[in-house]
Amino acid sequence: MQTLIEKYPRLRTHLMHNTPIKGQLSALPMLIMAIYLLTQIEWSWISLSVGTFLGVAYWTFFEYAMHRFLYHRIFKSKFSNELWQSFHMFHHRNIQEKSVLNANYLFLIPMALVNISILYIISLGKLNVLLFAVISLVISYMFYEWVHYSIHTNPFKNNYIQYISKYHLHHHHKTALKNFGNTSSFWDIVLGTYDANYKKIDLNSVEY
Ligand SMILES: [Zn+2]
Ligand SMILES: [Zn+2]
Repeated sequence: MQTLIEKYPRLRTHLMHNTPIKGQLSALPMLIMAIYLLTQIEWSWISLSVGTFLGVAYWTFFEYAMHRFLYHRIFKSKFSNELWQSFHMFHHRNIQEKSVLNANYLFLIPMALVNISILYIISLGKLNVLLFAVISLVISYMFYEWVHYSIHTNPFKNNYIQYISKYHLHHHHKTALKNFGNTSSFWDIVLGTYDANYKKIDLNSVEY
């Protein structure tokens, strides 16, 4: 089966990119807008703490759940599979193809609108909480894109990138049913999909 991005290569350039920068730049207006709106309304340290916690907790769970329950999903409809497998499953099958490592605006903006709408509901309509949640969500998202890029290009040797590279590459090369977290192991541990064997991955010999 050919995915949509293989049938229509120009579509790939609008959906994905080989660096995190396009997705991060697409998310930047949301960050600036949220900061600007916070200067126009009243907020407290409680709304800052609650909103920041909500944004980070929501993003880390979304990152995990999207990967575990949606990215790996097989649909009955041929078109749905051609569309959906253009994303993460194409990346799994073509780990050497760096042009699909990160999101571009055409993927990011609809996802952002869905997530901000869900955060609005979780924030119980409290605008100051929502704005702090959006700020921490966008920063968490930007970090996520940078981490996925770093794993597959391996430019940094710091302990965190070494740990998360082994973690994610174990998911790629050993079992796609474990270690769904892309920035941490937290939700894998909580929800029973953690596999500690990632520690055996040798970053000097594995394809990344
Ligand atoms: Zn990957
Ligand atoms: Zn995967």
